[in-house]
Amino acid sequence: MKLSVEKAEDNVLIIGCGRLGSCIANSLSNENKNVTIIDKDKDAFRKLSPSFGGLALEGDATDLDILKEAEIDKSKVVLSVTDDDNTNIMIAQMTKNMFAVGKVIVRLYDPDRECIYKESGIETILPSILSINEIEKILGAKQ
Ligand code: AMP
Repeated sequence: MKLSVEKAEDNVLIIGCGRLGSCIANSLSNENKNVTIIDKDKDAFRKLSPSFGGLALEGDATDLDILKEAEIDKSKVVLSVTDDDNTNIMIAQMTKNMFAVGKVIVRLYDPDRECIYKESGIETILPSILSINEIEKILGAKQ
């Protein structure tokens, strides 16, 4: 998997070091991008590869202090991929309202919420919709 952000010196802040967050963090770190990752459970950092070169911070990312410690204001991209839609939305709104972050991306399990956040400049990743599209491709219903 290959992921890229515009400039190598721009920091990417990832919230949630679970299956998705750790994978993205490892991938960006392999590309020598600056990555900071926050998780409330320190055991989650076990998913980071031994060569991970970013900063891992333990804490609840709905707490403003941990976001400041992660230097959110210097982040080009904030990606919130905790396992809870409400948490991801809350973090995205805090980020948009309080810090000048270029891009804010959230994972939402509930696809019905997408339209609400699209208009506020928050990018959404919807695993259920992505899965449906892929299944339709596999079934040959979509090219
Ligand atoms: P996964 O479902 O595998 O993508 O994992 C989601 C990750 O998000 C887990 O490692 C959780 O500990 C983490 N997480 C959930 N809520 C928060 C939060 N408020 N702050 C930081 N990390 C969180």
